[in-house]
Amino acid sequence: MDKNKTCYNLPEKIVFCKYCVLSNQRPHSVAEFKHKKNREGAVYLEIDKNGKCDACKMAEWKKDKINWIKREKELMELCDKYRKKDGSYDCIVPGSGGKDSSFQSYILKNKYGMNPLTVTWPPIMYTDYGYKNFKSWIDTGYDNISFHPNGDVMKKLVSLSTKNLLHPFQAFILGQYNMPPKIASKYDIKLIFYGETHADYGSPIIETSKSLRSKSFHTFSNLKDIYIAGTKYSDLREKYKFSERDLSNFLPMKEEEYEKSDIKVLALGYYLRWEPQEVYYHAVENSGFKPRPFRSQGTYSKYSSIDDKVDDLHYYTTYIKFGIGRATYDAAHEIRNKHITRDEAVELVEKYDGEFPDRYFKEIMEYINIKPEEFFEICDKFRSPHLWTKKSNSWKLRHTVGKRGEDD
Ligand SMILES: [Zn+2]
Repeated sequence: MDKNKTCYNLPEKIVFCKYCVLSNQRPHSVAEFKHKKNREGAVYLEIDKNGKCDACKMAEWKKDKINWIKREKELMELCDKYRKKDGSYDCIVPGSGGKDSSFQSYILKNKYGMNPLTVTWPPIMYTDYGYKNFKSWIDTGYDNISFHPNGDVMKKLVSLSTKNLLHPFQAFILGQYNMPPKIASKYDIKLIFYGETHADYGSPIIETSKSLRSKSFHTFSNLKDIYIAGTKYSDLREKYKFSERDLSNFLPMKEEEYEKSDIKVLALGYYLRWEPQEVYYHAVENSGFKPRPFRSQGTYSKYSSIDDKVDDLHYYTTYIKFGIGRATYDAAHEIRNKHITRDEAVELVEKYDGEFPDRYFKEIMEYINIKPEEFFEICDKFRSPHLWTKKSNSWKLRHTVGKRGEDD
C-alpha cells in the first residue's frame, strides 16, 4: 500500500503540534449538512513553522490579549437589550445538562438575570448517568423543551451515516445545531447561547473575533446543497424513501427565514473565559452534575461527553479517520489550560487513544442494525494509507505523538 496516499484531502505529511498533542489531521468544524463522502473542501488544523497549532495560539491569545472585562460588559449590554421584564423567555440554552449547558444556563439566569428556556435535542442513546444529569439540571429550576425526532428515522440516519461516512454521531450533531433556532423562532426568542467557540478547538482564530456564530452553520438557501449521511437530499428522498417531514427536523433553517427572524446564535465562550475544569466544578456545585464513576473508554476522563452511548464510538471513528482519538482531544485541552504537562499528555495519549469502546458497542450495533464484523469492515475502508499500516494482522498507526507509531 502506498504510504503517501491520503484519503479525503488529509495533509500528506503528519505533523504534531509541539505545544499540545493535536496533529494537522484534525478537521475544522464544518456545517454537518455539507459533509460529503470525499470531504470535498475540508480544511485541517493549521500548525505554523514553529510547530504551534491554531488552538494553542488561541489559548495564549485568550490569556494575554483579550480584555475580558470589556467582553463581559458587552454581554451585559446585550442582556440588558434583550431581557424580558415580564419573565417570558429571552434566550435559549441548548444542551442536555452536561457541564457546559449547566454552567451556561446558571450564569445567564443567576448572574445576568435572564430567563433562559433550555432546549434539548436528546442523545441518540442516553446513558443512565446522562439522563440523571439531565434531570437534576432541569430540577434546579429551568423550563425545558426536549425534542425527540421520529425514532425510526433517527435510527436509519445513524445507520446510513455510519456506513457512508463512518460518522455515527452525525444525526445528533445536525439536530443539536439546527433545532434550537427553529424553537427560538416559534417562541419569538432572539438569543441562543452555545458554550465554547469553535476556535477553542483549533478552527481559525478569526472566528473568535466576533461573538456571532457564522450563519453557514445553521442556515441553507438551496436544498441542492444539503447532504445527510454523505447523500444528496434528493437521493435520500428517492432512493431511501425518506419523506420531506422525516428529514425536516435535521435540516437547518432557511436563510431568508433566519434573516427575517433576527435570531442571534452566540458562543458564551466569546464573552466569558471558558475553562472546562472550572465549568465542571461549577456544574457539580450548582446543578447537581455528577461524573461517571468510571473513565470513558478511549480516554482517562470521567466528566465530558458522557450522556450518549454513541459518544464513545464517535471518538473511536475519529481515531480511525484522522488518527486522533478521545484522549488526544481531552489531553490537548488540558495542556492548554495548564492542568497537565505535554509529557504527561503524551503518556496518556499513548496509553488510551484508540482503546476500543466495547461497553455499549453491541447495543449500538443492534440499534443501527449493523453486524459487528460489518462495522469493522467499514472502519477499514476509512483508514487512510498514510495514517495506517497492517502488521501481523493488526492495524497500527504509522505515526503517533509519542513513540508508539510503526514508522516513527
Ligand atoms: Zn497545539
